[in-house]
Amino acid sequence: MEILDGKKISNQIKEEIAVEVRQMKERGEKVPHLAAVLVGNDGASLTYVGSKVRSCEKIGFQSTLIHLPEETTEEALLKQVENLNQNPDIDGYIVQLPLPKHIDEQKVLMAVDPNKDVDGFHPANFGKMALDMESFIPATPFGIMELLRRYDIDTQGKHAVVIGRSHIVGRPISILLSQKGKTANATVTLTHSRTHDLKTLTLQADIIVSALGVPNFLKADMVKEDVVVIDVGITRVPDDTRERGYYITGDVDFENVGKKASYITPVPGGVGPMTIAMLLKNTLLARERHKAGN
Ligand code: NAD
Repeated sequence: MEILDGKKISNQIKEEIAVEVRQMKERGEKVPHLAAVLVGNDGASLTYVGSKVRSCEKIGFQSTLIHLPEETTEEALLKQVENLNQNPDIDGYIVQLPLPKHIDEQKVLMAVDPNKDVDGFHPANFGKMALDMESFIPATPFGIMELLRRYDIDTQGKHAVVIGRSHIVGRPISILLSQKGKTANATVTLTHSRTHDLKTLTLQADIIVSALGVPNFLKADMVKEDVVVIDVGITRVPDDTRERGYYITGDVDFENVGKKASYITPVPGGVGPMTIAMLLKNTLLARERHKAGN
């Protein structure tokens, strides 16, 4: 079994981006500028946004955090989004999800300028991705594809079973794996909460992408020998023995599935850090596209 080391690969990607940023500075060019909008004080969101902003600083990007109170109205948030759309200094931005219940998430995401939508959540980007056109690919599936590519995992004609059909992970990764391409051309089965007899399907899988958010869901008796396992799940499990009061775990029984797998991602240290690296990559792409006048 080999670990797909997302931490190591994400550091490589960040270093590659940092080199490009240094070259931009040497040429006297504007460096990429990522903004993040956070509404409220959800613990996990604060952690995610914090690490995105810190990563920007480390690689030489400009970053702006717009932290709005929980009671921010939908109208005020839409105004903020419009300001970011109009601000020529901002290359890309994200609106951290989930938003408070009184705000229509879809309405906000639809208001983001697709040319600055580095999360790739706008229908214009999602549609282009599905049609193999240049777009912003959502960072988590983009990170999974990059991890497979850098470890030279053979996906050609393989049976990939994706667990979970969310718009940010399951659905897009099923599209990307089924597309034409070197690290693609897989035969994909997209499964979800209404799927009958999931185990029969996972037992046939050469590659499993698990994105449902249930600890210990994928067990050793559900996978065949030499399977490639990508664990996207991130669940905070309460634990009083730890200083922060919880630990992070994925969807996969790592210890036992790992004994059968050819490759497996750990949690933490797998898909999570890749997601941040690819958000930065998308911001660099946004900067390059804006410079080129797109
Ligand atoms: P979600 O939480 O929106 O939905 C869960 C999906 O799992 C649904 O599509 C549902 O149909 C499916 N599901 C539920 N029970 C199932 C079952 N018994 N069998 C098969 N499918 C079932 O999905 P999400 O937003 O993609 O999040 C999934 C997990 O991935 C969460 O733990 C989340 O925290 C994590 N996540 C991690 C990253 C990262 O960077 N590593 C990024 C996004 C999400």
